[in-house]
Amino acid sequence: MRVRAAGLIIACAGLPAAGADLSPIEPGFDYHSFANVDQFRTTHIDLDLRIDLEGKVISGVVELELKRLDPRATQLVLDAKDLMINDVMQKSTDVLGATAGNQTIWVSRPFHLEKPDPILGSALVIDLPPSRRPGESIRIDYETLPSAGALQWLTPKQTAGRHKAFLYTQSEPIGARTWIPLQDTPQVRATYKAKIHTPSDVVAVMSAENDPTHKRNGEYSFVMPQAIPSYLIALAVGDLQFKETGPRTGVYAEKPVVKAAAKEFADTESMIAAGEKLFGPYRWTRYDILVLPPSFPVGGMENPRLSFITPTVIAGDKSLVSVIAHELAHSWSGNLVTNATWRDLWLNEAFTVYLESRITAVVYGEQRASMEEVLGLQSLRRDLARLPPKDQVLAIDLRDRDPELVFSDVPYQKGRLFLSYLEAKFGRERFDAFLRGYFDHFAFKSITTEQFDQYLNEHLLDRFPGIVTHAEALAWEHDPGLAMDAVLPVSGAFSPVDEARTAWLGGKLEPKTFGLDWVTQQWLYFLDNMPAALRAEQLARLDQAYGFTRSSNAEIEHSWLVLVIRNDYQPGFARLEEYLTTVGRRKLIAPLYAELMKTPSGNAFAKRVFAKAMPGYHPVTVAAIETIVNPTVAEGSE
Ligand SMILES: [Zn+2]
Repeated sequence: MRVRAAGLIIACAGLPAAGADLSPIEPGFDYHSFANVDQFRTTHIDLDLRIDLEGKVISGVVELELKRLDPRATQLVLDAKDLMINDVMQKSTDVLGATAGNQTIWVSRPFHLEKPDPILGSALVIDLPPSRRPGESIRIDYETLPSAGALQWLTPKQTAGRHKAFLYTQSEPIGARTWIPLQDTPQVRATYKAKIHTPSDVVAVMSAENDPTHKRNGEYSFVMPQAIPSYLIALAVGDLQFKETGPRTGVYAEKPVVKAAAKEFADTESMIAAGEKLFGPYRWTRYDILVLPPSFPVGGMENPRLSFITPTVIAGDKSLVSVIAHELAHSWSGNLVTNATWRDLWLNEAFTVYLESRITAVVYGEQRASMEEVLGLQSLRRDLARLPPKDQVLAIDLRDRDPELVFSDVPYQKGRLFLSYLEAKFGRERFDAFLRGYFDHFAFKSITTEQFDQYLNEHLLDRFPGIVTHAEALAWEHDPGLAMDAVLPVSGAFSPVDEARTAWLGGKLEPKTFGLDWVTQQWLYFLDNMPAALRAEQLARLDQAYGFTRSSNAEIEHSWLVLVIRNDYQPGFARLEEYLTTVGRRKLIAPLYAELMKTPSGNAFAKRVFAKAMPGYHPVTVAAIETIVNPTVAEGSE
């Protein structure tokens, strides 16, 4: 039987009157999964998949080992989106209690796909007989559709090497269901194994044990022995090379990039050492980095043992590697202790931004860490200015909404400020001890905001009474805006930048007489805090002096291009078009499109360039930019 589970074309329409549901949220209930996790829990996933790079299809079987929690349950409900389900089988021992000799017999089971929800996809409902056995194994024969939201298929031309096609996945938050039918909720953790069949001239890597010495033969096997949530299952296939950077670190990248990447990320081992000293052992054996083609939609994705990283952080001077510190920090916060639902995302990200800053301070110094904290705060203030109050809270109500499209700086930067506040109130020594205890206590568990609160009360607030009240902590999680007593970061390194900017704007300072020893973060601060309007002649002189239009630093380039658009500085538009058609990282391009859409001429430019760039973007980026450029098509999304 073949059943087609098609997601609707209109992205993220949500249910009618999104947000109208005033019923209280049920903490721990995953509003973004159909899985009946109270009756069954996946404990192990076995994949056997064929990757057709030309046909752009993944096909094969997934075997799910399930623990049965309810002997009377007669249906297993999984998540599926944009998948063709060919057959569903159950291991015969689960049914008959016997095997035919040594052979495992699989028995077909009736199944159907429910009507698709545009955000969540379809419930894949499998009929099973009730059973008193502790568990069962289900096998699903399936293939992906071209619309699979987690997959990006790149033609050879879209890669750095330009000779071989490339595939990579981006499953967080709810994309795993577009390439594997499973219980796609972060509260279910499973180990996994995979056999991946590819064309014989490419390499496959996964968020698992990878063997860099494996010969290219089109057959790859992977084991992930630690139980992880589904959003951390990741795969990439392409013309990859490996270069070691330390005893337990290395870089996978295409040949034209691998050397520069290994040089840029040479400090990864020192970062792990810093993390271990602060937060306890690194529990994932190895930490490798996979550098993706420029279309990768996010800065980095913390896939365990193998972080997926945008090439836009390779600046040549290690100035943007805090992204690596961030993804590595997820080895503690996120991958080890995981948000139980997407409402609890701040538990992943707040801790990670906080840890990232601590690691950066150890490896690159306090000054760099504090500059990045200030830039993070500025970015948060911009988000708070545009977000409605309901989206300014840490434990956010995401019901009826695509968790993908409501990612903002709030769970990241406001969350970090909450932890910095606790650190300031209780002192670093007590707070560090609390953190280590937290990671130990919840290691390999998925937890809710409420579980965190309980732990926080027991091990910090009530243990050292009279410092922070329960109500004050809850206000951080559930009130909009920034708390009055937030401990805001400052950086002395930005004072000379403010002085130079003011003097230059006042005509008292010439370009090239300032900024000669500035680092990337100071340049970002210089550009990001320009007044709304600049004259073309001012921009031209800056550009002439510092070569912004041709910067090889993707972040500086981004900040410059914002000024180019805002001031309609024509000499910068060719570079702007080139940037928008090569970079696919949302954080870098979404604000540029948003800025363009503010004027009629910019609007036309944005639409034209988006149409041209779209085939090279990951579906996640397409969806995000669509909401900016064609807001009526993606109605209801935010
Ligand atoms: Zn993160």
